[in-house]
Parts: sequence; structure tokens; C-alpha cells
Amino acid sequence: MMGWICACCFAASEKDSCARCDSSGCGDCNHQKALLRVEAEAKAPDLDAEDYGDFLHRFEDTILPAYRQHFENDQRERWKTRLHVVRAMIFSQAMLNYRRDVCGEKGASPANVRYAVALQSFGKLRHEPKGSQIIHVDISEQAQDAPVTIGRGGWARRSAGCAYSYLRLIGVAETRAAKVADLLREAPKGADAEIIRDAYVLDRLHKLAHEDHPSPDVFLQAAAPILKGEFSFLEGKGEHKDAREALISEAGLLIRMTDWEADEGWRKIGRGALARVEGVIDDYDDALPFLAQFYFEDPSHEYVVS
Ligand SMILES: [Zn+2]
Ligand SMILES: [Zn+2]
Repeated sequence: MMGWICACCFAASEKDSCARCDSSGCGDCNHQKALLRVEAEAKAPDLDAEDYGDFLHRFEDTILPAYRQHFENDQRERWKTRLHVVRAMIFSQAMLNYRRDVCGEKGASPANVRYAVALQSFGKLRHEPKGSQIIHVDISEQAQDAPVTIGRGGWARRSAGCAYSYLRLIGVAETRAAKVADLLREAPKGADAEIIRDAYVLDRLHKLAHEDHPSPDVFLQAAAPILKGEFSFLEGKGEHKDAREALISEAGLLIRMTDWEADEGWRKIGRGALARVEGVIDDYDDALPFLAQFYFEDPSHEYVVS
């Protein structure tokens, strides 16, 4: 059996058409616009037992090709999205491994981080009006509460819906799927949420990809206003200052080396997109020592392009 996720409401369906779009008449689809098609597996995966290599097969085989199909076409031409997702995945793994192995933290769940990072941008498929979204928690006449501003906007809720749908389709238990989805909603707290946010904050450094910086210090100065105080990895931890700065510098360098939105080879690559970025870290491990050490630490990282 096969299930799919609707590209306009982000709900999962195992039927030919989307029940939610059918009932609400969304006006935006033919009720079968598929964002992701997911083959049912013989056995539901145990997320905590799944290693990074197993995860990468889903990421490379299903999730990244879906980003490519929906974001990179004649209508959208959003070539950057898939690059952001791939690099954020790499940054998230390096931070996760560092926090666990060097800082001795036990709190983060590798699987929660991986799936949330992987699925966090699908909600951007639908355009949002500019500016942050404001919702009223209680819309009744007597409402006393102030409106709540959600900085990340409606797309974060849609990404959360997509993550929930995807995990349910591959057989993950409802409470676990809901937990991963919650990580993508507004301002969650805890180690998992910090790593997910930091990974995408770090990729904002793509704004510096076309500038030359004569030294690492100059690069770090240029990076500060772009990270806007939102990059929390090892912040204020004096003994880890070098590691924090190494990651920022190397992220900038990796982004520059993989500034591939116009690269034909990259645009064409379906399966094996993350492996292509891994190859850069592998080839330039002298220039990217932090990433080489902490990203590749998990020996199961390697995705073999079949
Ligand atoms: Zn739908
Ligand atoms: Zn629809």
C-alpha cells in the first residue's frame, strides 16, 4: 500500500483523493496533488534504533527528490531551498554530535532532529503574505488576551502538519509523530529545538557567499549581524568559544563551496544530493576540520548512490 501527502493541505491520505481538500473545496488542487509519495514498509521503523545511514535512504530517496520536484520547476524556481535543507542537515548532525560527545549532553533525540530538519521547509511551498502572522487565541467577544504573534508564520504550522503526516505514513506512533511536528511549530524549547533552529540560522550565512573576507576574524564580524543573536550553539560557554567560531567559519566556507543554485550538475541530481555535499567536506577536510570530525563521526553516515 502507498500513502501520499497532499501538496495543498499537507494532510496524509491513503486514498486516491484528499479528504480534507474534498470537504473544504480548497480550490487549489484537483484533490490529488501529491507532495510526497510514501511506500508503506513491512515494519514500522523504530526511530530511536534507526541509524543515520537508514535515515539517509529516506532523505535521499524520497524527501530530497520531493523538494526538487516541487520547488525547482518552471513555476517556482526556488533553487536555494534544497541546498538549505541539505546543509542544515549537515550542520545539525555536527552540532548534535558535538553536544553529545564533547559537552556530554544526553537530552537530544537524533531522530527527532533529523526528521524535523528534513521536513521543516515543505510548508514554504505555499506563499505567505509578508510579515509575521498574528492570531488571536480566543476570538470571542469577551477576549481579553493580546494577540499572539508567531514569528515564523503559517508555513511553520504547515511544515509541522507535513512532518506529522509523513511520520504517520511510515508507521511511526502518533505521540512520536506529534512530538516531531511540535518541534517545527512556534518557539518550542529544549535541545532538539535549539539544534533545528541553529542549523537553519547558520545557513543564513549564504548571504555572505559572494563576499571576500581576508581573515576568519573578518568573516566572524560579518557573520554576527546575519546570525542576529539567534545562533545559540555553545553561546556564552567560554571553553567552547573556539568550537562555536570554527563551526560558524566552516559553515560560511561550506556554503561558499556549495553555492550551487545555478549549477547544472546539482540541479539535475535527484538521489545523492546530500552525498554530493558530503563529498566536499571529505575532499576539503583540511579546510573544514570541525565538520569533518563532527559530521562524519557517525560511521553510518555514508549514503551509497545506487
Ligand atoms: Zn489536501
Ligand atoms: Zn487541495
